[in-house]
Amino acid sequence: MLKFSTYNCLKSCIRSRLLYSTSTQVAKRVIGIDLGTTNSAVAYIRDSNDKKSATIIENDEGQRTTPSIVAFDTKSSPQNRDQMKTLVGMAAKRQNAINAENTFFATKRLIGRAYHDKEVQRDISVMPYKIVKSESNGQAYLSTSNGLVQSPSQIGSILLKYLKRVSEEYLGEEVKMAVVTVPAYFNDSQRQATKDAGKLAGLNVLRVINEPTAAALSFGIDDKRNNGLIAVYDLGGGTFDISILDIEDGVFEVRATNGDTHLGGEDFDNVIVNYIIDTFVKENPEITREEITKNRETMQRLKDVSERAKIDLSHVKETVIELPFVYKSKHLKVSMTEEELDNMTSSLINRTIPPVKQALKDADIEPENIDEVILVGGMTRMPKIRSVVKGLFGKSPNSSVNPDETVALGAAIQGGVLSGEIKNVLLLDVTPLTLGIETFGGAFSPLIPRNTTVPVKKTEIFSTGVDGQTGVDIKVFQGERGLVRNNKLIGDLKLTGITPLPKGMPQIYVTFDIDADGIINVSAAEKSSGKEQSITVIPNSGLSEQEISKLIEEANANRTQDNLIRQRLELISKADIMISDTENLFKRYEQLISNEKEYPKVVEDIKSVRQSISKFKANENDMSIDVNEIKKATDALQGKALKLFQNATKNQQKQASK
Ligand code: ADP
Ligand code: MG
Repeated sequence: MLKFSTYNCLKSCIRSRLLYSTSTQVAKRVIGIDLGTTNSAVAYIRDSNDKKSATIIENDEGQRTTPSIVAFDTKSSPQNRDQMKTLVGMAAKRQNAINAENTFFATKRLIGRAYHDKEVQRDISVMPYKIVKSESNGQAYLSTSNGLVQSPSQIGSILLKYLKRVSEEYLGEEVKMAVVTVPAYFNDSQRQATKDAGKLAGLNVLRVINEPTAAALSFGIDDKRNNGLIAVYDLGGGTFDISILDIEDGVFEVRATNGDTHLGGEDFDNVIVNYIIDTFVKENPEITREEITKNRETMQRLKDVSERAKIDLSHVKETVIELPFVYKSKHLKVSMTEEELDNMTSSLINRTIPPVKQALKDADIEPENIDEVILVGGMTRMPKIRSVVKGLFGKSPNSSVNPDETVALGAAIQGGVLSGEIKNVLLLDVTPLTLGIETFGGAFSPLIPRNTTVPVKKTEIFSTGVDGQTGVDIKVFQGERGLVRNNKLIGDLKLTGITPLPKGMPQIYVTFDIDADGIINVSAAEKSSGKEQSITVIPNSGLSEQEISKLIEEANANRTQDNLIRQRLELISKADIMISDTENLFKRYEQLISNEKEYPKVVEDIKSVRQSISKFKANENDMSIDVNEIKKATDALQGKALKLFQNATKNQQKQASK
């Protein structure tokens, strides 16, 4: 592979902090959709008495949120797979216990992910439905029991189509445009797949915005007093997200995000399920735990009552979990108190603490400086969670926000901004990980640091690492480590046909352009040959928030070592270029210097330094090679070469004056 060298590069940096444009006038209505893992909601901007406010649209069952579940009745039309009856929302949830293989829930976890992705592999082992590998793009797809294979975007589109229809019926007009929210850590591929779902549903998704940003938007919109630092703590059905935002006069800036992609209400339900199974088998010793857990329908029923008990205990101190004829005509009856639930789930609740601390650290903010704490997600109705959050920030969370609705309301506000209905709102989001490219020796050259506000555009100039190079391979990486091999390759761009020049001479402008949806465009241009290339980066697989935290931790732990390796690479790069320059000069002025008595010795020295450099390049991780020795030798060589030229010039002048 041909590599860049950063040595001798002119460094320029064009950086723009474009604010979200408020001037994109869209004539028609733009609805806001929270396409949640567990529940979805839709909202619009209502104009009553000249006051505009975001309002939830109830679904056809009169509910303000809709379970994100799609089910297929494979018996309805077994011959024609595509005409199978489809159920959405509550209707799909109700029949889950008897049709688990064809009831698709939490498919947002899979959207835009490669089949081999760790998160997907983990879900394959626990989901009752079949997850298959797409033959066309290697992504995780879903299959019904009679073999209808669909992408998670298609399932998402069925939900979006339902929400579109519900909105049209409610508003009495055709709805064509929407703003859809996504978790802050979603990568390009997941954002693209979400936009695709919209397209499939016949909705033009004008923008995807981050869920916490939407929550803050709906909180901060009306009230100028709401200027300040905001923490959004979002614990939903399957994921936990924490974001720190800065709101100032209608400008919303995400300062940091963190979380856990495998922590949510489901885990709480499972703790209760395990507890009631234990109680049940203790009372019925002839029944084993294994036979119950193997029975899908029983497990589904147990899960349903457990979730209900959990929700009850957010309002009452004690509840009774009852399921007649749960297994082998035995009845289940277990009572549970709020305190018991708190104790059982304390380790889950505590798992939200480190991400909160990390986000505060990344944003460089002390907890007491947070002005408002907003709770999002159904799980934050649990009193124990509220008290833990209060403890973390030293203040009670804001009570005016509805945790189930605020994200959709925020999306509607952003929709209103785009349609021109709402003025004076600007929105700023950030990148979750550092983005950069590979340079000489596998070093990672960051272009856009983690937590940079998007949209952002940045250009840097790089050069070649080998003489006469006619092409460069620009590898785009995401991560926090100094060497690319520890980061994640997310895209690859080849620039060919550039004018062959000595190394370090070509000027290759690499531009990263991240749009408001968080989608990355990378372009490269070489000025003298006028060659240009660009790509939109669509990574093969996503990085979960957990992976992001892990990468950051690893980067911190390895910072010293990584820096050392980088410094070594840089020293070698400089030495290498110095040697090449000297050799070129020697060639050019051979007639002048070749008669000097020092000349053969310096040529020998060049050879030996060149050998040391080659040896280093072949074993760049071998710490026993002392790079400083190479540097010293190069510096000495430079001195000698200079002397050689000075003497040669003097001798030439002497010769001339004779
Ligand atoms: P998502 O963002 O994943 O779509 P939600 O924000 O809708 O999820 O949260 C769903 C979770 O919240 C479920 O696990 C549900 O059981 C839980 N939940 C809903 N209401 C309550 C409540 N009153 N008390 C405790 N948990 C609740
Ligand atoms: Mg949510």
